[in-house]
Amino acid sequence: MSDTESYGFDTLQVHAGARPDPATGARNTPIYQSTAFVFRDAEHAAALFNLQEVGFIYSRLTNPTIAVLQERIATLEGGVGAVCCASGHAAQIMALFPLMRPGKNIVASTRLYGGTVTQFSQTIKRFGWSAKFVDFDDLDAVKAAIDDDTQAIFGEAIANPGGYIMDVRAVADVADAAGIPLIIDNTSATPYLCRPIEHGATLVVHSTTKYLTGNGTVTGGCVVDSGKFDWAASGKFPSLSEPEPAYHGLKFAETFGPLAFTFHGIAIGLRDLGMTMNPQGAHYTLMGIETLSLRMERHVANAEKVAAWLENDDRVDYVTYAGLESSPYFDRVETVCPKGAGALFTFAVKGGYEACVKLVDSLEIFSHVANLGDTRSLIIHSASTTHRQLTAEQQEAAGAAPNVVRVSIGIEDADDLIRDLDQALSKATS
Ligand SMILES: *Cc1c(COP(=O)(O)O)cnc(C)c1O
Repeated sequence: MSDTESYGFDTLQVHAGARPDPATGARNTPIYQSTAFVFRDAEHAAALFNLQEVGFIYSRLTNPTIAVLQERIATLEGGVGAVCCASGHAAQIMALFPLMRPGKNIVASTRLYGGTVTQFSQTIKRFGWSAKFVDFDDLDAVKAAIDDDTQAIFGEAIANPGGYIMDVRAVADVADAAGIPLIIDNTSATPYLCRPIEHGATLVVHSTTKYLTGNGTVTGGCVVDSGKFDWAASGKFPSLSEPEPAYHGLKFAETFGPLAFTFHGIAIGLRDLGMTMNPQGAHYTLMGIETLSLRMERHVANAEKVAAWLENDDRVDYVTYAGLESSPYFDRVETVCPKGAGALFTFAVKGGYEACVKLVDSLEIFSHVANLGDTRSLIIHSASTTHRQLTAEQQEAAGAAPNVVRVSIGIEDADDLIRDLDQALSKATS
C-alpha cells in the first residue's frame, strides 16, 4: 500500500504492509513456510550478505510473512521499522541488546508486568546488565537514578496489572535531557489506544501474544523503532555507531540512518540471538490485527461497565481502573490513551487472599489463566501466580497485593460478565 500517511487506523490495520502475492495473486498474505530463499545468482547472494541489498536469505533473519507483519505493526505505531521475534520477553532483550554492554544499566518503572520485573531484576544480571526500579510518577527520582552508565528508560504505557497510566511525555523529556532512549512496552494499550512515539518514545516493544493477536493462539513479540534517535551523537551506543567487524566495518547508524536500529535487530540480533518468530505465528497475528480497533472498542466499553459495577459493590474494596473518575490516573487517559484506558485492571476483594482464591475458583465465564488480551475474559490472582516470585514490597509496588485479583475483560456481553462476577463474589465472601 502506498501513501500510508493519509489512511486511517482501520484501513491500515487491514492493509498496511500487505499486497496481493506477486506469484499467485493470493489476496491474503500466504504463510511462506520456507526456511531458505533461492539467490538469483552468486552476485545477488553476496549483495544480500553484505547488507547492500535487502531480500530474503534464511528465515532466522527474514521471512516474507513476517515482513508483512513487521511493516503492519511499524505503520500502526508510526515507526519507521520493526523486528518481530518469538515472544514479548524476547522483544525486550532484542530492544536492549544493541544498547547494553556489561556494567550498563536501565532505569525501569516499578509498575511492570511481573515477568518483566523478574527478567530485569534477575536474569539480565547474567549479561552484566542491571535495572534500577523507580516510581515514574516521581520525575526527580527518575532523573536521580540516571547515571553515566544508564543506557535507556523503560516503562509501560498502561501498566500491567494495576491500571496505571504513565505520563509518557514527561518521562520522554527526562530521557531526551539525558540523551538516552525511552522504551515503552505498549502491550496493554496497543497502538489503537496509545501511540507512544507521538509522546516522545524512541522504541516501542510488544508482546503480540496479547491484544495484537487477540485470540490467545500464539506467542510473539515486536520491537518498533521511531527512527528519531541519533545513535551516533553521544558515543554511548557503539554497537550502532562504530564499525561492525562482522560486516567489514560497516557502521549501522551511518549506513542505514533512521533504519539503523531495525537493520541491527535483524542483521545482528536475530542472526546471533535467534529469537525468531515463525511464519505460522505471524499469520495468526496478522489475522488478529485486522480486527484490532473493533475488539479494543468492545474491550474498553466492557471494562468501563464492569469496573463501574464492581466499584459500587459492597464486597469489593476498590477498583484500579484508570477509566473510572475515582482513579488518580483518570486525567491522563485524555492525553495518553484518549480512546480508553484499556481492559486490564485489578480489584481488591473484602476477605483478602482466601476470598480471592475462592472467587477465582467460582467464576464460570472468566478463565483462570496467566494471560491477558484474549477475546475471552480472564482472571488471575497475581500474588499466588504471576507475581509470586516477587517480594511483598515488589508485589505492593506492582499493584499485585494479596487481596487483589487482575482481570482482562473480554469481548463477551458485559451483562453476562457482571452476572458471573456477582455469583462468584457471593461464594467468595459468604
Ligand atoms: C505478556 C507480557 C509480556 C511478555 O510477553 P510474552 O509474549 O509472554 O513473552 C511483556 N509485557 C507485558 C505488558 C505483557 O503483558
